[in-house]
Amino acid sequence: MHRRSFLKKLTGYSLGVMAGGLVLPNGIKAELVKPFAELISENRLNDEIRNRIVELKKDNRNLHVGELHCHSYYSDGAYSVRDLLLRSSLLGLDFLVITEHLTPGTYRLESCLDSIKAQWNIFNRWNYGEMGPPAIYPAFEISTKEGHLIAVFPEDYFKPERLREIRRYFSRFDHYSVPVELTAGLIREMGAVSIVTHPDIKRSYPFGISSGFVKEHLAGLVDGIEDMSAGHGYQKDFSAETGLATIGSSDDHLNIILGTVVTSFDGTKHDNIIEAIRMRDTRAVRLTNSLDILFSPTKLFFNI
Ligand SMILES: [Zn+2]
Ligand SMILES: [Zn+2]
Repeated sequence: MHRRSFLKKLTGYSLGVMAGGLVLPNGIKAELVKPFAELISENRLNDEIRNRIVELKKDNRNLHVGELHCHSYYSDGAYSVRDLLLRSSLLGLDFLVITEHLTPGTYRLESCLDSIKAQWNIFNRWNYGEMGPPAIYPAFEISTKEGHLIAVFPEDYFKPERLREIRRYFSRFDHYSVPVELTAGLIREMGAVSIVTHPDIKRSYPFGISSGFVKEHLAGLVDGIEDMSAGHGYQKDFSAETGLATIGSSDDHLNIILGTVVTSFDGTKHDNIIEAIRMRDTRAVRLTNSLDILFSPTKLFFNI
């Protein structure tokens, strides 16, 4: 398809969905957006991301590039974890961290654990020829009293006994909003790392923790902060102000913007993304800005 007609079609879809979709429940919105999502990803976007990663790796073959923030239908995303794993593999991402919501009274811990188990099963039974799976890590995005915080656990936590440990520590989060300081302490105690997501972004409920609060109360307690977000459409320098690891991610719910903004680390210095975050030795990278001319899909369709 020519670029122009592609963009025209894309805009047509987006306007149609915007007009009819905003007052509908999330499930129906997701159905409406699906053809639109498939249209974008089957076209230029995937190629563009893939080529940019190849280009980045020309300078350092050991560079690892991946997605640290996205949702499947185990919380409020529209796609399966298999879809997200396959797309990540197709894009050439080295790691994928799926971060279902853990929100009191809304998204339960058991659902996060089901997502983690599903990811592990797919990873272990991967059978897609030459295309290898990305590395995966157990993770979720916790709604704390002050706002959202991602926890990323070492691979070891895929084991049933360690999942039970997560259940023991986190089941109370189904019922209470726990203060972020306490939550971050717990995450660290378990050997996991924490990331402040979409700082300063306001909603009617605790959403983005203010960067001022992070600087004053969390700098020594959390590990990373989202400097760059495709879903929330900003690029800042929070990490320099707070001394935390810089993170770039998509917060994709629709399998569209996955991998457009990523985090990288040097594989010759660190074994995995958790270690790189802990050592504050990451980079936030925007791989494409092709979607900027349209809109930020996540922001428009979902109240996340
Ligand atoms: Zn969030
Ligand atoms: Zn999110």
